[in-house]
Amino acid sequence: MKESASTTKPLSIVIAKGDGIGPEIMDATLKILEAANVQIDATHIEIGEKAFLAGNTSGITEDAWDAIHQKKVILKAPITTPQGKGYKSLNVTIRKSLGLFANVRPAVSYHPYVKTNHEVMDIVMIRENEEDLYAGIEHQQTDEVTQCLKLISRPGTEKIVRYAFEYARKFNRKKVTCLVKDNIMKITDGLFHSIFKEISKEYPDIEAESQIIDIASARIANRPQDYDVLVTSNLYGDIVSDITAEISGSVGLAGSSNIGQEYAMFEAIHGSAPDIAGKGIANPSGLLHGAIQMLQYFGEAEKAAYIQNAWLRTIEDGMHTGDIYNDSISKKKLNTSEFADAVIERLGQNPEHFAKIEFNSDDTRIVIKDTEHAPRKKELVGVDVFIDDKNRDAEALGNSLVDASKEVLKLKMITNRGVKVYPGGMKSTFCTDHWRLRFISKSAEKVNGQYEYKNITAQEVIDIQSQLVKSGFDVIKTENLYTFDGKIGFSLGQGE
Ligand code: NAD
Repeated sequence: MKESASTTKPLSIVIAKGDGIGPEIMDATLKILEAANVQIDATHIEIGEKAFLAGNTSGITEDAWDAIHQKKVILKAPITTPQGKGYKSLNVTIRKSLGLFANVRPAVSYHPYVKTNHEVMDIVMIRENEEDLYAGIEHQQTDEVTQCLKLISRPGTEKIVRYAFEYARKFNRKKVTCLVKDNIMKITDGLFHSIFKEISKEYPDIEAESQIIDIASARIANRPQDYDVLVTSNLYGDIVSDITAEISGSVGLAGSSNIGQEYAMFEAIHGSAPDIAGKGIANPSGLLHGAIQMLQYFGEAEKAAYIQNAWLRTIEDGMHTGDIYNDSISKKKLNTSEFADAVIERLGQNPEHFAKIEFNSDDTRIVIKDTEHAPRKKELVGVDVFIDDKNRDAEALGNSLVDASKEVLKLKMITNRGVKVYPGGMKSTFCTDHWRLRFISKSAEKVNGQYEYKNITAQEVIDIQSQLVKSGFDVIKTENLYTFDGKIGFSLGQGE
């Protein structure tokens, strides 16, 4: 081991050893950091299973929050969310409470030392971390139908897209690929895509492309070498980053950062691996890679490269933990602590097969400023009223609704699970007990066979509900229909 100078100042961080294999891999990681002369001013916090079972329903105590608010940076081992008691994921709670909007997950092929079908692969997933279907707003609305709200905001999308381009620039990446499904979700994914196109123009030095998430996932799994930086919303990012981790060879290798404007959290991408916990055989590399990303965040690029190069050399030397051990290339099967010692022995050495790592920028913190926009003119032009009705006859329902509503608003159409079933629905469309009734202004006229939208009042939205309730309908919710600067801000029914 060749010594290196200590970090310029102690890293002031909170450490959470977590559950399952967490304490084992955290001890190994801290041992490597210490041997590399990384000074740490740490506050240890207890979060996860023990906190949950001690009655903290969120899995974290007030003291732990205080420490986090003071230190602002967390190095966290995986935690176990106890099953079956309705506990919310602590990871999601921490990310959202601290505004950690960007989840950065690199996935790299270490072929031929780690078994993978892909010799060349070096992908960084930048996943939006706070919104989308993970907003956690779900409802059962009728006996038969449940819903989950997918929230995609302009500020949330701008921040993550800008972060992806800034990341690409800072880390000398060439291309950013945006993953969306805006052929189906034209408003939510459409917004994400349009913001991507808008912001990409500010980065002419970086190639920008967009792909539909389904075919893109298949291509990523098949030809990861064609991809560089990926940016996407929360759910797609969660799924695709597991694909990239898996095809790179092992979930035990990758680290991840969760970055906000003020706070940051670094971790492994894998979970607490209860199946091997306590055996001392887990691979600490994922958490070590999280810690290396943390060093870069603190501006300790040289130290980060010093450890990463020793780690690469360890892998090249065939010093492998059980999860990546392979008779044809591995030289020694090491346990967690022996693996840490093998990395420590190689501190100061560089890889011979892989390219030596040089993190070329000491300033790797990416701060994204919020963009101001002039508000657009919003006008109310209709309302969707959702009702629960067990009678599956759309035609009969439509006729009775026209009658019940005509004094207040005009019934434009009825859909069931998004498909138009009235007027002129098809007998073959299966209907559930969940109906969406679209109401527009009483005075709306048809232009070229379609009703044009006219303004309605908030009072009319209330009146139509009272009218329907009085007529015996079971109203379950409403969604107002707006235009923004005259542009329709809602989707049409399929077949409308
Ligand atoms: P997991 O990632 O813990 O394990 C999946 C498989 O990979 C297991 O076979 C495990 O042995 C293996 N594995 C994972 N990490 C390894 C390592 N470092 N070395 C060697 N093998 C490794 O996923 P899971 O089993 O679905 O989840 C277990 C628990 O972890 C659950 O309670 C889950 O909620 C939690 N979890 C936590 C986090 C986090 O804290 N960030 C992330 C994912 C899952």
